[in-house]
Amino acid sequence: MKKEPLLVSACLLGEKCRYDGGSKYSAKAALLAERYEFVPVCPEVLGGLPTPRPPSEILGARVMSKDGADVTAQFRLGAARSLEMARKAGAVKALLKSGSPSCGRGLVHDGFFSGKLVPGNGVTAALLEENGISVHTELDLAPLER
Ligand code: SF4
Repeated sequence: MKKEPLLVSACLLGEKCRYDGGSKYSAKAALLAERYEFVPVCPEVLGGLPTPRPPSEILGARVMSKDGADVTAQFRLGAARSLEMARKAGAVKALLKSGSPSCGRGLVHDGFFSGKLVPGNGVTAALLEENGISVHTELDLAPLER
């Protein structure tokens, strides 16, 4: 039987695409390959940003990197390309990395590089949800295991 497609943050699968050049491999997330066909995406790379890159945070309607560059356009492009990949694959669910200004859902950093989290969604998580895709993070895999 064909497995259901699941859009997944590539860093959770071990891809070294994070701003610091590392990954955030999650063994629990990887186990979901038994029931889902993974569609890995890294929205920031899809938006044209290099790896490594300065960290970025959402500040109001913009996304700013720690070195003061406005990277809103790249984040929006990466979100649009991730949505396109989800649609192409027929994915209606996504498993994204918590806390990221692209992938985070529910909580994101406060925009001042203070280490504090505030309520909000990453740019890609928000766009996916606006388009009917249910977004989950590695902090709560239970809904994807049912
Ligand atoms: S943009 Fe998403 S997939 Fe890419 S490194 Fe950040 S959290 Fe991981």
